Amino acid sequence: MCGIVGYIGNKKTEDILLDGLKELEYRGYDSAGIALLSSEKIEVFKALGKLKNLEQKVSTQNKYNIGIGHTRWATHGKPTELNAHPHLGEYSYVVHNGIIENYKELKEELQTAGHKFVSQTDTEVIVHLFEFYNNKLNDCKASFQNTIKRLEGAFSILLISKSCPNDIYFFKHGSPLIIARGNEKNEVLFASSDAPLIGLANEVVYLEDGCGGVASAERIEFFED
Ligand code: GLU
Repeated sequence: MCGIVGYIGNKKTEDILLDGLKELEYRGYDSAGIALLSSEKIEVFKALGKLKNLEQKVSTQNKYNIGIGHTRWATHGKPTELNAHPHLGEYSYVVHNGIIENYKELKEELQTAGHKFVSQTDTEVIVHLFEFYNNKLNDCKASFQNTIKRLEGAFSILLISKSCPNDIYFFKHGSPLIIARGNEKNEVLFASSDAPLIGLANEVVYLEDGCGGVASAERIEFFED
């Protein structure tokens, strides 16, 4: 088992994510990473091994109000920095806990459509599938929902995209995922267990399987698959 965290708010996003991942260390992991999003850019940091290695790499001059983080326990592809999450498409990043059982078919389909893959993971299909739909529809919500419909297996997911820079898309099926309102105004937090949320959040929702949605600072919308 491994871990997911996400944050929307005005605190230092990278610190909240790293602190949250530390609280999930007990679940075990082989690598870790975070992605930070603003309307201008996405920055990503990944490292093999202990969170200390990631902490040493994380350094940015920019202020980010949205981010996602992950500790990986490899199921598909070796524990390497390239296979660590978050995984990148052209303009979006995803973190995922679980296994996408039909990833081979999806990967072949997406490669035929011109998508280039860089990792050996099952997870990478999620972000490419999202962009495949979004390139056609230019609609993040519809593209995320179309993506979810195509996935088989176990998956808790957070996805961010430059196409919708104020939002985190989320979905839970099989692996745990919690969404919470932070103690400060306009704060939203995500985590795989309640440990990272203690002291930071109120109004906690333990998502049911088949439940997802989209969160921004102002609003959380839920939908079912
Ligand atoms: N199956 C994915 C991978 O190997 C996610 C593993 C996890 O849950 O950490 O990268």
